[in-house]
Amino acid sequence: MGYLFFHPDSSAALKPCMWCKRALTGGEMCYKHQFYGIDSHRCAQITPTLACNQHCLFCWRSFEHEYPEKRQIEPDVIVSQLASIQKKALAGYKVSYRADPVRYQESLIPNQIAISLSGEPTLYEKLPELIDLFNAQGCTTFLVSNGTNPDMLRACRPYQMYVSLTAPDRETYLAIARPDSDYWDRILESLSLLSNRRSAIRITLVQGINDHNPESYARIIEDAGPQFVEVKGYMHVGYSQKRLSRRHMPEHERIRNFAMSICEMSSYTFMDENLLSRVVCLEKKK
Ligand code: SF4
Repeated sequence: MGYLFFHPDSSAALKPCMWCKRALTGGEMCYKHQFYGIDSHRCAQITPTLACNQHCLFCWRSFEHEYPEKRQIEPDVIVSQLASIQKKALAGYKVSYRADPVRYQESLIPNQIAISLSGEPTLYEKLPELIDLFNAQGCTTFLVSNGTNPDMLRACRPYQMYVSLTAPDRETYLAIARPDSDYWDRILESLSLLSNRRSAIRITLVQGINDHNPESYARIIEDAGPQFVEVKGYMHVGYSQKRLSRRHMPEHERIRNFAMSICEMSSYTFMDENLLSRVVCLEKKK
């Protein structure tokens, strides 16, 4: 999968995303630049653990070949090594004639940490301390969680907190996320933590599986009250290709129509969209 590990005993890992590399060659940045002003080439995509308590059909991670984790490493080990591991991961761009030299220099000092690579970060016991250390360094932090661990989320203070909503109801949730236990009530509890803070609900639409009942999504979103809602299409990449087919990838128009149905039944409104990433961002009406 191209992950660089912080320690051989731990599954804490970093992998620059495609948009970071594209930005380094002077190309376009990812939709988070468009929606939230994040510079892709200064963003480090990490996870403090690859362990997860769900087996989502749409996940790009392999469930068959899990990376064994002997222990969790301390937050300061992750923070102190981050810049050097990102530098190692992007080393080829130092000598590439295609690289933008200014952006390359900037990329050596990441100022945005996306805790979203793979795995469920709330299973890392010292997640609040890790985020606080990044915050203290002046970095923005995006935490993406599956919402199964509300007590841990309560203790975390990221710049922007994401909770994934994989389904409009419990039955669909159990079928698509295939969790170790039924965590639906815990996810609803996590969603209730999103109002009055910079936050987003992420919905990954898988055609024919969870793209029904926009009214239920709207009700759950309305109850939670996050600042943003990202409705994103499933991408047929990684190990998800073994579980789903290309026909499960919705076209952008279908995603937009679904997002607009949510708007019609809630106090959210269209904010922006990115056709390449097949994502529509909704915002709570002011
Ligand atoms: S919760 Fe996230 S990491 Fe875990 S299986 Fe689902 S998509 Fe993958």
